[in-house]
Amino acid sequence: MACPNPDLLRRGGPIRDKLNNVFQSTRRRCAALTLLLGAAALIAAQKPPRNPPPEPTAPTRADILRGAYGRYRANNDLLFYHLDVRVDPEKKTIAGKNTIRFKMLQNDTRIQLDLFANLQVDKILMGDQPLKYQRELGAVFVDFPETLKAGRTYTIDFYYSGTPEHTGRFGGFTFGKDPAGRPWIFTACEGIGASLWWPNKDQWRDEVKNMQLSVTIPSGLVDVSDGKFGSKRDLGDGYTRWEWFIHYPINNYDVSLNIGTYEHFADKLGHLPLDFYALPEDLDKARKQFAQAKGMIQAYQHYFGQYPFEKDGYKLVEVPYSGMEHQTAVTYGNHFTNGYLGRDWTGVGISPRFDFIIIHESGHEWFGNAVTAADVSDMWIHEGWTTYLECLYVEYMWGKADGLKYVNGYQSKVRNRQPIITQRGINREPPQDMYFKGALFLNTLRSVVNDDKRWFRLIHDVFQHFKYQNIMTEDMVAYFNQKTGMNLTPIFDEYLRHAALPVLELKFDATAGTVDYRWKADEPAFAMPIRVGAKDNWQIIQPTIAWKTMKTPLTKDQFAVATDLYFVNVKKE
Ligand SMILES: [Zn+2]
Repeated sequence: MACPNPDLLRRGGPIRDKLNNVFQSTRRRCAALTLLLGAAALIAAQKPPRNPPPEPTAPTRADILRGAYGRYRANNDLLFYHLDVRVDPEKKTIAGKNTIRFKMLQNDTRIQLDLFANLQVDKILMGDQPLKYQRELGAVFVDFPETLKAGRTYTIDFYYSGTPEHTGRFGGFTFGKDPAGRPWIFTACEGIGASLWWPNKDQWRDEVKNMQLSVTIPSGLVDVSDGKFGSKRDLGDGYTRWEWFIHYPINNYDVSLNIGTYEHFADKLGHLPLDFYALPEDLDKARKQFAQAKGMIQAYQHYFGQYPFEKDGYKLVEVPYSGMEHQTAVTYGNHFTNGYLGRDWTGVGISPRFDFIIIHESGHEWFGNAVTAADVSDMWIHEGWTTYLECLYVEYMWGKADGLKYVNGYQSKVRNRQPIITQRGINREPPQDMYFKGALFLNTLRSVVNDDKRWFRLIHDVFQHFKYQNIMTEDMVAYFNQKTGMNLTPIFDEYLRHAALPVLELKFDATAGTVDYRWKADEPAFAMPIRVGAKDNWQIIQPTIAWKTMKTPLTKDQFAVATDLYFVNVKKE
């Protein structure tokens, strides 16, 4: 998911939604009205448990084929793709080949690639030799006549064709029309998987080192893809071939086509080329709105260092869906207005000052594209961090107080129903809490580090250390622990691996002038310092899950907890 789905955030959440569904369906089926309304009222009267356990659904064979890093994926390391594809808007078909270069890590005779079952495998060649293959759902197991040797590099050409699926929140592969009726064809397939439209090793752990992308389209249309534009050549058959080269590792789902009647304008930030693409009718609006890209890049460079894909440049491309972080070709569909689809996104008056999609999707160039999770289970590394980057952008532009106000605006969107990190190896996308709770967790961690200079150095170094790598949460935690000399593991685990927020329990004894305090948390070793007491004169206490007692001159009502600096619940008795 590129940006949080605002439609999943209606007040009341799934329980209310279920009730609404009951009401809606009862309106259509009057006979059952009384009975169902009675049942609904009964459900509503029952208080749901504070944190109902998640309802795990068993992974399907397709989930395992997509999500597991099994033998036939782990036995090789991707080096290079050359995807060469022809797009026919009339027939709504694509055809082409992906040249895949990989190094074997184990001796073996088979590798796993992926291509959606509705697309045809035309042939798979190693040199001139056709290879056998076996398809199972979205997987394509390629068999070699002789053992491939560990340490050696091999290249195969995977030819395919068909009509890719139009599906999912952003369309997967869309053969569309722009408002003036001209072809508008684009891809957005993060959740569904890039093998929806091209053959690749469709998982998150392994990326090519670089990639060539050749896109053949009817002459007169423009293709904007990832990487650096190389050339375009008229093939003389009504089609033109556009060449792009991606100089850096790239996630499969970031590989994208955006084909339309685009107009182009350009700018520069130092040496970094900035290229902008919009429909002719939207050009004036785009010139005005896309000017925010420069300040955004400056803000993120301030915190994290140089833009990570300088050789490929930065592009912003108009599309009809909300937006997606396609590497160096960020797509944009936020209606050229500030906020998120016209809304004050965190509801505290700050979101209308900037364009949410430009700031959020481009933030993924740092977290998501340069630093990548190795399994979708740990996708908070993309979304929690990038949501936190929005807050840093606000802080850079308008100061710390506004940054704090902005991030805490996200509190109302957090559900705490499921852990942010999901089960590995089954392509299980985390809940939306990965965005909002993820950002609030990082804001909490900043308060735990309790030294802004050190915090900013730390997050800068985290980015620099992990850029162009595919990592798991443990890698990040180990780095934080090493750099801070603190044991932050229980804090990371409490926020990311459990559903509930930690609760600071306070018991006041007015006669003795004391307060007992402890954390109610799921991690037995959870020990997090927190600011409490008087708002203008916080004191930092070090609660653990065992009760401690301190003197306080403050009454139960006066005794405050800095819940804007630490995302926690507080229970006073
Ligand atoms: Zn995002």
